[in-house]
Amino acid sequence: MLTILMACSNNASLAILADELSKLNRVTVSWAKSQQDAIKRIGAGSIDVLVVGEELLQGTALSLVKEVIKSDPFINCAVVSPLSPKEFHESTEGLGVFMQLQVNPGPGDAERMMSLLASIGVWDGNDHQKRGLVVSVASGKGGTGKTTVATNLALSLGGDVCLLDCDVEEPNAHLFLNPEIQKTDEITAWVPAIKEDLCTACKACAEICRFRALTVIAKKVLVFPELCHGCGGCLKVCPEGAISDGSRVLGEVGIGRSGGLGFIHGRLRVGEAMSPPLIRRVRSQGAVAAISIIDAPPGTSCPVITAIKGSDFVLLVTEPTPFGLHDLILAVEAVRSLGIPCGIVINRADIGDKRVQEYANKEGLPILMEIPFDRKLAEAYSCGKPFVEVMPEWSDRFRSLYKDIQKLVQC
Ligand code: SF4
Ligand code: SF4
Repeated sequence: MLTILMACSNNASLAILADELSKLNRVTVSWAKSQQDAIKRIGAGSIDVLVVGEELLQGTALSLVKEVIKSDPFINCAVVSPLSPKEFHESTEGLGVFMQLQVNPGPGDAERMMSLLASIGVWDGNDHQKRGLVVSVASGKGGTGKTTVATNLALSLGGDVCLLDCDVEEPNAHLFLNPEIQKTDEITAWVPAIKEDLCTACKACAEICRFRALTVIAKKVLVFPELCHGCGGCLKVCPEGAISDGSRVLGEVGIGRSGGLGFIHGRLRVGEAMSPPLIRRVRSQGAVAAISIIDAPPGTSCPVITAIKGSDFVLLVTEPTPFGLHDLILAVEAVRSLGIPCGIVINRADIGDKRVQEYANKEGLPILMEIPFDRKLAEAYSCGKPFVEVMPEWSDRFRSLYKDIQKLVQC
């Protein structure tokens, strides 16, 4: 079920859009007239998509978006705006807004919205066959063979498949796939810029910033862009209107192909700590493929959750060691908290002990593939070659793995 909240004081302006969306299977539409009401509903955690109209009882559309991402950084926002696409893009940069809607949106906008939501894995239209599956490959820790599994799976499937490397801090899928990158976009995030002629050095901005991204020294506001989370708190409290829009580069998204395989990866700028907005951008670019394979970052924190949220299935790659088991347990908890089904791939399966298998049995988690500790596989890895190219018989095993995932998703 997808829950869409329409935030607007004038229901008539969003009525056609709401009507179209309400006709869809497994979609419910509800309304909030004020910022407060919308923030309360989103804080309760039951909203997947927020559509912000032009008119609100308090505040502006963008101030509402800036508020709601504080309580739910993963909310998907669409905003009605008369701005040009370029102006809109600049004013919403870093806020995770996935779509600009024209004033008085109609049926075509509803269709476009749902197709964008499907493309970022938020909505499946109740038809997994039609759009294929979004499969994330994750692991509790790095070095378990996650990228090996993701790239070999993607190469084995054939057809309209796209590999999304969301491990933006250390993307390495390109080393195995040698894609031809056809387009590179710089991705930026909003940060405050101080208009010194208006600033009275009142310190209100520095006091509200819990990330210490602003400080006032000798009647001058210093901004530390690297520490800013783009929450917009300073913008809201500044009594002089002395804060305007600045930006900082988060990284870049590269889009290309490796033979028949679609390829998208993000690269976080060196020194940049905030990866989720960049990961969201990689996810949203991987829109159109029939099957998306996501190479998620390792671990269980925000970047992983951003990468795997909205997937149909998560493959957890682990190794049969005490460390592997420890991190697997954490990863399973994280995936289960999102309500996504998961299964396990054990890499280097013939070393270590049987505790991963025992844990999987106890938890009812399917072990979908075991990859042995094999010199030929290790040699292929060290030469940057996907092992399905060196040992083609593994392609069948990866195709069979995908079929097992399809069955588990349809259960
Ligand atoms: S400077 Fe601080 S208060 Fe302002 S947007 Fe950044 S994190 Fe939020
Ligand atoms: S809140 Fe506005 S006026 Fe006050 S110090 Fe910050 S930028 Fe200057």
